[in-house]
Amino acid sequence: MEASEGKSKKQGASRLCCLCNQRRPVLKRPKTLQQICKECFYEVFEEEIHQVIVKNHLFKSGERVAIGASGGKDSTVLAYVLSELNRRHSYGLDLFLLSIDEGITGYRDDSLETVKRNELQYGLPLQILSYKDLYGWTMDDIVKMIGLKNNCTFCGVFRRQALDRGAALLKVDKLVTGHNADDIAETVLLNILRGDIARLSRCTSITTGEDGPIPRCKPFKYTYEKEIVIYPSLLNHFLVLSLTSIVFFFHTYAYFKKLDYFSTECIYSPNAYRGFAREFIKDLERLRPRAILDIIKSGEDFRIATTTKMPEQGTCERCGYISSQKWCKACVLLDGLNRGLPKMGIGRARGGVNGDHQKETKKPASAARSLESKQCGSLDF
Ligand code: SF4
Repeated sequence: MEASEGKSKKQGASRLCCLCNQRRPVLKRPKTLQQICKECFYEVFEEEIHQVIVKNHLFKSGERVAIGASGGKDSTVLAYVLSELNRRHSYGLDLFLLSIDEGITGYRDDSLETVKRNELQYGLPLQILSYKDLYGWTMDDIVKMIGLKNNCTFCGVFRRQALDRGAALLKVDKLVTGHNADDIAETVLLNILRGDIARLSRCTSITTGEDGPIPRCKPFKYTYEKEIVIYPSLLNHFLVLSLTSIVFFFHTYAYFKKLDYFSTECIYSPNAYRGFAREFIKDLERLRPRAILDIIKSGEDFRIATTTKMPEQGTCERCGYISSQKWCKACVLLDGLNRGLPKMGIGRARGGVNGDHQKETKKPASAARSLESKQCGSLDF
């Protein structure tokens, strides 16, 4: 009798959220596999990000912070959560949205409409900079000239500099991006596969560019993509669903919270090499959810041999941007475009301004390969 009572109590308890033990669970957390209710999910999701911010001293009171906003789920959830945490915990930050218009018709023009709505929804001032204004070229123009190979190299290099220029325009102290744990694990793996020691040594840092114009932070460093996706999406929670199925059916913390975000992929995305790494990490995650955190930990624990030659930081002779070469990558790529020799900038033709310099310093071949094969530049950190 006692045994059956105990069994039925245990069964009852298993139907309750394992954190509050009061409400029915509506999801299984991808990170911990705990079955929890919607309210506890929001609480742990936001609290973990708050703890990352506090433990890593990401911000100081009074700082101006730009949120790199593309209109996609990561940056939309970041803008929402950071606004909430700033208010709730009195961080004392002045927050801004900073968007880059690459000039991709049918993609960025639509996603920027979402960011403009977010500006009103969250009450955050928005600054938009375009490639056309900064470089005289849109990505549509560039793709017309170079086709769909290496387009992301141009886009990524230009975006990185455009974000810094936007941050300078806004006079912010920090720039935050929505890179999540999956992005970072993927980048660790790619940098190992490419033998790109310089990037490997910095890709797991939560703050980068402290020696550059504007430090960049990644408050979502330990946040799983599947949880960002679910944060807004627990609408039909009558069943305990695995996150995989929720992601599949509803797409996104953004959907749960009914956040307004844009979910279409870039029309110029090649996605081959990076896509393979991404799928591999998703497979590992299915077998062992901790795999993502473990890859990040491995990246953090790498020690670069003191004999390894690292690029020396200087400034571009042409535009003054940080560069380890005579001209920065953006200037080299732009020069190639303007001269009608776009391949010159991606290391396929001789005679570029940095060509001689590269010969002098005997730069490892891996550096050129890394630039050639880089995919979506939004992930270039
Ligand atoms: Fe630019 Fe990313 Fe599109 Fe490539 S996939 S063209 S980097 S927005």
